[in-house]
Amino acid sequence: QWLNILDIIRPILETTTSIASSSHEIKINIPADARVNGSFKELYSAFSNLIINAVKYSPDGGEITIEWRTSLTTDELRVSDSGVGIDPWHIPRLTERFYRVDKGRGSQTGGTGLGLAIVKHVLSHHDAKLDISSEPGEGSTFSCCFPINRTRPDDTPS
Ligand code: ATP
Ligand code: MG
Repeated sequence: QWLNILDIIRPILETTTSIASSSHEIKINIPADARVNGSFKELYSAFSNLIINAVKYSPDGGEITIEWRTSLTTDELRVSDSGVGIDPWHIPRLTERFYRVDKGRGSQTGGTGLGLAIVKHVLSHHDAKLDISSEPGEGSTFSCCFPINRTRPDDTPS
């Protein structure tokens, strides 16, 4: 089913209490015609996990950007924050169930460590990949990379 990306993102921002009640500055840069072929419920869950994380692991007032990036072979939904960041050795393990980065900086933030495992699972259902990049102390970017046959309805195969 073809879904409009903004129709997934908007209700997440409006109805998720931890997002709507946060004082983060959320910037959206998604064209009105950005689409994806998939499951609304699953993608809602994946995108909301990423946005909730961005809020949870970055300070009050921090900037969060949600954007749609297109390239030759993929279209990406990117969630970037200016939060605590992640040390590089943790990155390959973040999508494991129950994996959480140790205490210290984000210690007050509870969680089960299932969010990113769900994201990975949902994306695999959509032929998509999760790309994670981060600068400790600066922030993190989580990109859901969809192959264009999942995002461009009018592309005719050659
Ligand atoms: P849950 O999502 O199940 O409530 P969680 O947020 O701890 O718990 P994940 O969403 O799977 O679990 O994230 C795993 C770990 O990755 C987190 O505990 C956190 O250490 C790190 N992490 C995830 N997103 C970010 C982010 N945007 N910035 C910094 N660290 C992050
Ligand atoms: Mg989480």
